[in-house]
Amino acid sequence: MSQIVGHFINGEVVVDESNTQPVFNPSTGEISKQVSLGGAKTIDEAVASAKAAFPSWSKTPPLKRARIMFKFKELLEQNTAEICRLIGEEHGKIIHDAAGELQRGIENVEYACGAPELLKGEHSRNVGPNIDSWSEFHPLGVVAGITPFNFPVMVPLWMFPMAIVCGNTFVLKPSERDPSATLYIAQLLKEAGLPDGVLNVVNGGKEAVDAILVNKDIQAVSFVGSTPIAEYIYRTATANGKRCQALGGAKNHAIVLPDADLDNVVNSLLGAAFGSSGERCMALSVAVAVGDEIADKMIAALKDAMANLKVGIHSDKQNDFGPVITAEHKTKVIGHIKSAEQQGATICVDGSDLVHTDYENGFYVGATLIDGVTKDMSSYQAEIFGPVLQVMRVKTMQEAMELINEHEYGNGTCIYTRDGEAARYFADNIQVGMVGINIPLPVPVAYQSFGGWKRSLFGDLFMYGPDGVRFFTRRKTITQRWPTAQIREGAQFSMPTL
Ligand code: NAD
Repeated sequence: MSQIVGHFINGEVVVDESNTQPVFNPSTGEISKQVSLGGAKTIDEAVASAKAAFPSWSKTPPLKRARIMFKFKELLEQNTAEICRLIGEEHGKIIHDAAGELQRGIENVEYACGAPELLKGEHSRNVGPNIDSWSEFHPLGVVAGITPFNFPVMVPLWMFPMAIVCGNTFVLKPSERDPSATLYIAQLLKEAGLPDGVLNVVNGGKEAVDAILVNKDIQAVSFVGSTPIAEYIYRTATANGKRCQALGGAKNHAIVLPDADLDNVVNSLLGAAFGSSGERCMALSVAVAVGDEIADKMIAALKDAMANLKVGIHSDKQNDFGPVITAEHKTKVIGHIKSAEQQGATICVDGSDLVHTDYENGFYVGATLIDGVTKDMSSYQAEIFGPVLQVMRVKTMQEAMELINEHEYGNGTCIYTRDGEAARYFADNIQVGMVGINIPLPVPVAYQSFGGWKRSLFGDLFMYGPDGVRFFTRRKTITQRWPTAQIREGAQFSMPTL
């Protein structure tokens, strides 16, 4: 029997053999493990453990909480090879890409190490005669995170380090498709000194998620995943009285103006469209060329460069990208390529029939380039989430911006140009949450915050950074006076003013 990936409850790994599903190695197509699927009972156990840990953890000084995060950061760095191996084996991303994911996650741990500073609050002296007023940031209690398959380490690290240093206790439900790396880092946090029960991990799918959404002891839910599920999570969590932020899917366009540096455009598009097999919510999946001249040049250069891309197993550093996550997802991506062709687009480079010579059962899709895409095509409207770059041709920058502004998603976008005035106009007027100017993947650093607009985010606050502190705390404002013999006032029936 293959290894079973269990849950992590009250500091112990709990393996439940009664309900499991296979975990694949996408590079080979083989089943590598099974994962336990938790339901309401497992969520209740995890929440009970988090609830029991809360009183003591919430009173632990922020500096002590931060010291555990410092140690956690060291352990993440010392165990990079093992973490990247686990990510690669179950997700399929190449080891250098897994290392990049881990590094971006570690940066969130570093930010969380600033807990004493982040939680300092705000103070106003003498808001009235001898009256001082200040705000404090209090933890919420037990909070939960639900994460997607495409960043099994980075996205959980967007959530739990911040929630925990703010004094909350946490229940994490990772993706059931690549659960091992997430479980591994949770155990490292225990090794770093985190008390049992402060972080709990329950593996599973919809049943576990639904149990989180209705659990009366969970105060807040942070979600990252596809838009239909994000919308469902937001609606259900808020209807059950919880604070919620739900980040959804994307369709990220790059506008290429005629004056753009073409070498920069081609290099950027290659990495941002095909890196991680296009399975990034910030992947650039549409290049909007302004004018046929730049479109033709760009396509010719892309075709040449794409001929050299290496697709293969996660453990070989020479590869540029690996397989997609499942056989079903491979079929879906190929379906989008075929539908674009049927609806009138031109397939310039077709990766849909790639079969890897050494791993013929792996879930590989080759880099694909499609020209002549229009906004009525289903491949344009949908988030493909595969190594597919679609090219659209427009006559003006305004037309390109209207396409982006009309799209239901508003996660990331970028513009390639040497014209500062055009770039500034674009940044000011584009209806998208994260904008790059000659930068393909404008993922904000850990001390900013991450989020999209429109149907790419449901809720009021972005993820991590300063918005993360706000999401995982609630404000208490205290106004104080110590009456003395000299200061005595009679009853006052109007609204107090200065
Ligand atoms: P997904 O929506 O299928 O799954 C996300 C989480 O929801 C998983 O934990 C999964 O178990 C759970 N889930 C799945 N179906 C459910 C259901 N019917 N009811 C309740 N819970 C359910 O997403 P995915 O395929 O794992 O990840 C890819 C998606 O995530 C893409 O759409 C991508 O754009 C998006 N994503 C967004 C961001 C962002 O920051 N906006 C970041 C990463 C990924």
